[in-house]
Amino acid sequence: MATATETKNLRTPIVCVMGHVDHGKTSLLDKIRGTAVVNKEAGAITQHIGATEVPLSTIRSLCGNLMSGTVVIPGLLFIDTPGHHAFTTLRSRGGALADLAVLVVDITEGFQPQTIEAIKILKQFKTPFVVAANKIDRIQGWTPTKNGPFILSYNKQPDYVKTAIETRTYELVGKLSDLGFSSDRYDRVRDFTRNVGIVPISAKTGEGIPDLLMVLIGLAQRFLEENLRMTVTGPGVGTVLEVKEERGLGFTIDTILYDGVIKVGDTVVIGGKDKPIVTKIRALLKPAPNREIRVEERFDRVPKLTAAAGVKILAPGLENAVAGSPLRVAKEDSVEAIIKDVEGELEKARIVTDETGIMVKADTLGSLEAIINELRDSGIKVAMAEVGDIARKDVVNAETLPGSLNRVILGFNVQTLVDAKDYLQTSDIKTFNNNIIYKLIEDYEKWQKEQKDLAEKKRFEEIVRPGKVRYLPNCTFRQSKPAVIGVHVMGGCIKPGVTLIKPDGSKVGIIKQIQERNENQSIASQGKEVAVSIDGPTAGRQINEGEIYYVDIPESHSKVLEFELKDTIRQDELETLMEFVAIKRKGNPFWGR
Ligand code: GDP
Repeated sequence: MATATETKNLRTPIVCVMGHVDHGKTSLLDKIRGTAVVNKEAGAITQHIGATEVPLSTIRSLCGNLMSGTVVIPGLLFIDTPGHHAFTTLRSRGGALADLAVLVVDITEGFQPQTIEAIKILKQFKTPFVVAANKIDRIQGWTPTKNGPFILSYNKQPDYVKTAIETRTYELVGKLSDLGFSSDRYDRVRDFTRNVGIVPISAKTGEGIPDLLMVLIGLAQRFLEENLRMTVTGPGVGTVLEVKEERGLGFTIDTILYDGVIKVGDTVVIGGKDKPIVTKIRALLKPAPNREIRVEERFDRVPKLTAAAGVKILAPGLENAVAGSPLRVAKEDSVEAIIKDVEGELEKARIVTDETGIMVKADTLGSLEAIINELRDSGIKVAMAEVGDIARKDVVNAETLPGSLNRVILGFNVQTLVDAKDYLQTSDIKTFNNNIIYKLIEDYEKWQKEQKDLAEKKRFEEIVRPGKVRYLPNCTFRQSKPAVIGVHVMGGCIKPGVTLIKPDGSKVGIIKQIQERNENQSIASQGKEVAVSIDGPTAGRQINEGEIYYVDIPESHSKVLEFELKDTIRQDELETLMEFVAIKRKGNPFWGR
């Protein structure tokens, strides 16, 4: 059992909400904030910059007698930006900043691509999570009890509604099991270190939210006591959430402080674009309780803050700060050592690229890393990777990438700058922008396939196709220069420009024109009887009525036809091809192999 002093030294666990788009992440966060506000408890929630704190007292009052036993965690700090993007951006010492995650799944839709993506990320970072099976109010027949615990609401439902909830919960259990997690509805889970708890909730009615908060507290207590121990008086350690220019203030960084204390006047070291930034804190800002007032009063200035907290920091030189990078308070004598630490941390986060591949740009180090992992999983190589918007210089660099399918920039959560847009108009570089990883990959793969198909088509179009004709009796229209004769196309096709040969391999001449009833034709296929003009021979000398000629196919084309297109060409083409190949192989058995 924790003593009073130990309790004091446990910081608030940080929680990130993840899940597929439209499954209700934002609604859940809004509801958590709203529920507590409606609850009207003094200090029911504390609004931070980028985060919302729900203190233990509020959770207790929401849970009523659901909650029992000793709790030593001071509350929960929810990161206000949902999504795995925020999760991967927020790093602490190379790991994930969020101690816990809520994975929101629409119970009526089940697992979707981003649900799976989120689970993979949570698995990679070994972050404990709970599944919020949202939108239970949409189960047919559900009668809501506003903001109540799930179990109480559930017990009041008719049997068929209960069955529907059970069935859908088990679908989630099945999907989780496919991904290597054993799980069950939270009230049936004995050991949360072995099983993932599924809490049915409604972000609309607020049902199940008390249960969710309670499970999170339980998870934090069981999993994290060690991680949450901190030095309440030590120098502050945090992560940059966002770099923002604020009107009247200049560049600021929204930061999550996860250890120690930070004070106005402290020297801090922050990860910068080229090198760590060393600067002095001018102001620590928190949201003012009333948000509608004049701009300069949007924030309250505080002299000092203790972890865990979200805070906006004002200091000189922040325009080069990088989202997702570390922030450390440094004492006079430790600045050099801390710069080294921060450099080390940034170095660890540096992306290892492949020798060949595409270019990727993302808004933060964490997201860059996440997208590169996903790309590699899909077998896509990355040769250049950087944090930042797509600029002209990126397009210029991408132009040096070898391989036409690599001449691509994938932009994750970034803009294409105007100078890059201009330059792209005359460049063959293709750019893709999206803020959903799997969509970005899907779009790129689709384009890649289209390009491949197109190249393939072009290659096949250029191939000389097989053709076999018979010089029709009584069809010599002109003897020479050029000879004009009537032919019957016996197999395949003929086109102007092809060379004809005889079955002994000797050359006949080149077809100049093809005419059918005095009209020029670009092709004459099997069955046609047409007049052709042939450059070279004189009818009655080198060529004679009744003879058979074949289109002369270059050896490389013949190989493609025989070995790549065999299954796609017509039967008469194939037969003609094989007769032609036999003529060639009489002289050289290895011809066209
Ligand atoms: P996000 O993309 O995951 O942040 O999803 P949102 O929170 O924006 O929700 C997507 C849509 O689902 C919105 O229209 C919400 O009003 C709706 N929604 C979210 N939670 C619930 C819920 O529990 N019940 C119902 N009926 N609708 C919900």
